[in-house]
Amino acid sequence: MKVIIIGGVAAGMSVAAKLRRLDESAEIVVYEKGNDLSYGACGMPYYIGGIIEEVSKLVARTKEEFEKSGINVQTMHEVIKLNATNKTIKVLDLKTSNTFETFYDILVIATGTKAITSNVVGFDEVKPFVLSQLEDAIKIKSSLDKVQDVAIIGGGYIGLEIAENLAHLNKKVHVIELQSQILPNYDDIFAKKAEEALKEMKIEFSLEERLIKYQKDLNKTVVITDKSTYSVDMVIEAIGVKPNTEFLRDSGIEMLKNGAIITNEFQETSLKDIYAAGDCSAYKHRLTNKHEFVPLGTHANKTGKVIAENIAGYKTSFPGIIGSNIIKINNLALAKTGLGYKEAKRLNLNYAYEDVIAKNQSGYYPGAKQILIRIVYDPKTGVLKGGQMIGEKGVSDRINILALAISKEMTAKEFSMLDFAYAPPFSPVWDPLLIAINQIKI
Ligand code: FAD
Repeated sequence: MKVIIIGGVAAGMSVAAKLRRLDESAEIVVYEKGNDLSYGACGMPYYIGGIIEEVSKLVARTKEEFEKSGINVQTMHEVIKLNATNKTIKVLDLKTSNTFETFYDILVIATGTKAITSNVVGFDEVKPFVLSQLEDAIKIKSSLDKVQDVAIIGGGYIGLEIAENLAHLNKKVHVIELQSQILPNYDDIFAKKAEEALKEMKIEFSLEERLIKYQKDLNKTVVITDKSTYSVDMVIEAIGVKPNTEFLRDSGIEMLKNGAIITNEFQETSLKDIYAAGDCSAYKHRLTNKHEFVPLGTHANKTGKVIAENIAGYKTSFPGIIGSNIIKINNLALAKTGLGYKEAKRLNLNYAYEDVIAKNQSGYYPGAKQILIRIVYDPKTGVLKGGQMIGEKGVSDRINILALAISKEMTAKEFSMLDFAYAPPFSPVWDPLLIAINQIKI
C-alpha cells in the first residue's frame, strides 16, 4: 500500500508518524513544498519575541529522523495537480523545475493555509511581512535590528501574539483593526479587557480603521488608512488565512466556499481513497452542526491521528470541534470554548449568559487573582453552550473543564454539583466556575 501525504507539518507528519507506528509495511511518501518539516508554528511569535531562543527548538522531528523510521520525505516538492480517476498526482520538483506523475493507493491532503494579504496600492513596493511559515518567522526576526516602529494590520490572535512579543522587545507597536474590537470572535467585554492589558504594554490600537495603501518615504513605510497615517519601520499583515487547496479546484473534491475541504467523521473527502486533515480542511462544529473553517494546531494533530488509524484499519472518528482556544495577553490568559453570546445571537440562537468575577483561589491565601467568567447557556433547558474567561491564574484548567461539560451537553444543574478538588492555594471553596454556574436558575 502506497500512502502519499501532501504537506509536512502538523497534520501531515502526524499521519506519517502514527501510520508508521501502526503499519510497518506501508510505503509512506511525503511531499512538502517548503524546506521545513514538523515544526510548531504556534511557537513562532515567541521565537520572534526571544522567549524561545533557537528556531531549532520549534522542530519536533527532523527529515533524517523521519527517514530513519522508513518515511520517504521529499521537501521542495509541490503537488500541483490531482487526478482522482487515475489515482495520480503531478509533482513539481522546485529545485530542478521538473515535473513528474506518481500513483497512490491512499492520498492524504494536509496542505494547511496561506496568509491572506491586503494587496493594496504600494503592497508590492513595501512587501509587508506575514507570519504563516517558519521561514516567515526567521525573516521577521532577522529584520528586527533596525526596527523601532511596527504596524500590525489585523487584531486577531496571530496579530496580537506578534504585537505582544514585539512589545516585549521594546518595539513600538500599533495594531490597526477593521472591526470595532480586537479578537472579533470574543464577546466585546473580553476583547476590551484584552485591549486594556495590551495597552499596559504600550501597544496602541486603532479600531474601525481600514487599510487603504502603503507608501515608501525614504527608510520609512507610511501606512495610510481611511482615518489616519502611520510612519513605521516594519509592517506585518495578519488579516487571516485561506486553505492551500487551489491545486484541487478542478478535481471535484467537495469544499467550503473558501476552499476548505469537507470531510466526514473519518476525515474522508468526497473523493475515494482521499483523506484531508488539518488547516486545509473544514471541521464539523458540534454546536452548530455545520462544517466550519477553524484552523488550529490542536485539530490538525488530532485529525492526522484519526486518518492514520483509519488507514491502518481501525475505524476511528473525529467528533468535531466546539471552538476552544486560549491566548496569552500580557500577564493574562484569555480563553473561550463553545459559543460566545455575540456568536449565538448572530446564529439566531436565543441563548442567555451570566457573568461572574471571582478569585482563582481562596481570598485569604496569598496571590489570589480575579477571573472574569461568562457562561452562555440555553435558558429553555439549562444546557451549557459556551464559556469565556480572562484572568491571571487558573484560566486554562477551568476552560478545559467547561469544554468537557459542553461537549457532554451538561446542564447547569448537573454541573453545579461536580466534585471539584478544593484546597485554598488552588481554588476557593466555591470554585469560580461553580459560582458562575450557580447564577443560572434553571
Ligand atoms: P501547515 O502547518 O500550514 O502545514 C501545511 C504544509 O503543507 C506547509 O508546510 C506547506 O508548505 C505544505 N504545502 C502546501 N501546499 C502544498 C502543495 N501543493 N504541495 C506540497 N506541500 C504543500 N494553533 C493552536 O491550536 N494554538 C496556537 O496557539 C496557535 N498559534 C499559532 C500561531 C501562529 C503564528 C500561526 C501561524 C499558527 C498558529 N496556530 C495555533 C495554528 C497552527 O499552527 C496550525 O493549525 C497548524 O500548523 C496546522 O497544521 P497543518 O499541518 O494543517 O498545516
